[in-house]
Amino acid sequence: MAGQAVRNRYTTSQMSVLLAATFALLFTTVVALLAVDQQRVLLAAERLQQQTVPEIIRFQRLTRNLEKLRQEGERLLASGTPAGRQESLFMIMLVASHPSILEHPPSAKLARDTEAFLVDAARLASEDPATLPLRLAEWQQIVTRLNLLVDDLSVEGVNLVASDLVDMTAAMRLANYQLIGTMLLVGGFLVLTMVLLRKHLLCPLQRIDRALSSLNVDQPTPDFPEASLAEIHAVEEASKRLHSVMLSNQAALRKVELLASRDDLTGLINRRHFMDLAEAELRRAQRYNRPVAIAFADLDFFKSLNDTYGHHAGDVVLCAFAHLLSESVRQSDLVCRYGGEEFALLFPESTVDKAHLLVERFRERVADREFRLPDGARLRLTLSIGLADASHCAIEAALKRADLALYEAKRRGRNQVVVASDAC
Ligand code: GH3
Ligand code: MG
Ligand code: MG
Repeated sequence: MAGQAVRNRYTTSQMSVLLAATFALLFTTVVALLAVDQQRVLLAAERLQQQTVPEIIRFQRLTRNLEKLRQEGERLLASGTPAGRQESLFMIMLVASHPSILEHPPSAKLARDTEAFLVDAARLASEDPATLPLRLAEWQQIVTRLNLLVDDLSVEGVNLVASDLVDMTAAMRLANYQLIGTMLLVGGFLVLTMVLLRKHLLCPLQRIDRALSSLNVDQPTPDFPEASLAEIHAVEEASKRLHSVMLSNQAALRKVELLASRDDLTGLINRRHFMDLAEAELRRAQRYNRPVAIAFADLDFFKSLNDTYGHHAGDVVLCAFAHLLSESVRQSDLVCRYGGEEFALLFPESTVDKAHLLVERFRERVADREFRLPDGARLRLTLSIGLADASHCAIEAALKRADLALYEAKRRGRNQVVVASDAC
């Protein structure tokens, strides 16, 4: 509409595509992040399995060999026989040349030093066994070095495992947080989707349902808050249009009813409508045993008026007469143009005597009145009235009796009221 800001509206398919695309993007991102985390945990586990564990086994073997070296050294120094010493020496050389020791430089060096010391000690002991105790202090230093190296290797192994476990724990914790975050995000998205659907689809649909259920010409045009969805807006607009169509239909129906129940020329109710209303009134009067009277009124010598002044003048007089007639009766009385210059009247709650007084007064009023014609001429009119008690009659019988009374009034010379004497 001109001068009004046109609001951007989405169709339901656009909204569903938008929601689906957002969900797909969110879901893909979250799955990718989870996959990265899982990969990190897997890599840490693989490293633990393929590198750290063999490394620890190697360290264990190394420390075992260093320990063995120390034990054999102790045995050699404690041995009292050259054969025993030779046997220990053989084991010492065997252990010192073990690959696990050779591939670890600090161990290899210490093993060489230990081997050299013990070879030397064994050689001197074979010459003089008393030299062995003299070398114990020197041996203690080597033992201390061996112990320190074993301790270092143990700590190094533990550190290796600890570092991998720390990495793995961190990766798992991160994955855990991301999983919780993902669940919250997806949950939040679903809640948001439900809130949006409720606000923009369900609530407006409920409003439309309520408005359509109570759509009535007696109610004001339904009013809706601004809709965000094009289809909802279209249905709301259609509901408003439907209501205005109902209003105009009702106005047209009232007009048609009015036209169908009124006489075009005089505006009085027509014969058909009079018959319906009079029939209902007679039924009511008979059910409650109430008086009701009926009358036929006919203008006297109206044909000659037409013939003298023309049909249009006759119409003007008919209208003026109808106007006079309707303002001379009570609101509750029925006045109808029965046809031509004939009028029917019904007087509810009136005995025939009371109605007689009323129509007599009206007859006099007409007779005293001058009717003005379109050309300015004035003329007088009279009417004849046939009156009947309708309290116990069917409408047709009551009209018939009033008509006969009218005929009698005409016969007696016109400009008078005749009351039907016989009963139904
Ligand atoms: P009477 O006293 O016996 O009733 O004589 P009358 O001339 O009134 O009765 P008659 O039945 O002979 O003629 C009725 C006339 O009423 C005939 C017709 O020209 C006239 N009339 C009927 N309807 C209309 C109408 O709508 N407009 C006009 N101008 N005249 C009408
Ligand atoms: Mg007449
Ligand atoms: Mg007539």
